[in-house]
Amino acid sequence: MDCWFPGYNVRDAKAFKKILDLLASPDGKNISMIFVMFTPGFSAALAAAPETLPNGIHPRRVFKNDSKHGGHFHIRFATRNP
Ligand SMILES: [Zn+2]
Repeated sequence: MDCWFPGYNVRDAKAFKKILDLLASPDGKNISMIFVMFTPGFSAALAAAPETLPNGIHPRRVFKNDSKHGGHFHIRFATRNP
């Protein structure tokens, strides 16, 4: 699923926090991967994030650096269609 919000394209620590909040929400448990074209600020924020979120998600296992995701980020859900 392609996603975007105002401020995403700079992909700074603030943008990271916004996506992390989504990952930390109850729905975050259904997210298996998030593709982002990392910036140095984004990478630093990810490195500084907690190892495990309260919902059991490990942010550093979910975020993937991908060069095609500078203009939007991409969420892959773990839930498969029956
Ligand atoms: Zn995408």
